[in-house]
Amino acid sequence: MPKVKTNRVKYPEGWELVEPTLSELQAKMREAENDPHDGKRKCEALWPIFKIAHQKSRYIFDLYHRRKEISHELYEFCLDQGYADRNIIAKWKKPGYERLCCLRCIQPRDHNFNTTCVCRVPKHLREEKVIECVHCGCKGCASGD
Ligand SMILES: [Zn+2]
Ligand SMILES: [Zn+2]
Repeated sequence: MPKVKTNRVKYPEGWELVEPTLSELQAKMREAENDPHDGKRKCEALWPIFKIAHQKSRYIFDLYHRRKEISHELYEFCLDQGYADRNIIAKWKKPGYERLCCLRCIQPRDHNFNTTCVCRVPKHLREEKVIECVHCGCKGCASGD
C-alpha cells in the first residue's frame, strides 16, 4: 500500500489568525512531554502539560466566547482537532467554574477530605495562603480569587 497523505484537513477561514499561537503551544506541549523529569515527583512532571493544555483551551475559549473574534466554524474545528478541550470549556461557562484549572480537580473521588481539590477553595476560606494542588500544580482557581 502506498503511503496516503493524511494532511488533507480543510482549514476554516480565520485559521491563519490562530495558527501561530496554537503551533507555539503545541511545540511547548511536545517539549514538556519529552522532558526527562529527573528529580521531580511524578505528579509534578505532569503539571507543565496540564498548564499548556489549559492555555490552549483558554485561548480558543476567549477568542470565541469573550472576544468573539473567531467564527463558530473555526471554533468547532479547533475543538474537533483537539486544540481545545470541549469538556473544560463547558465548565468555564458555568458560574463558579470560570477559572477552573482542570477537570480532575473537581472529581470528588480523587480527593481524600473534601469533595473538591484544595485549589477550588476560595482564598479567604483556606488556612494556607500559598498552595499547589497535586493534580496540576494549580495555585487556586476559585472564582473571585
Ligand atoms: Zn485548580
Ligand atoms: Zn487542576
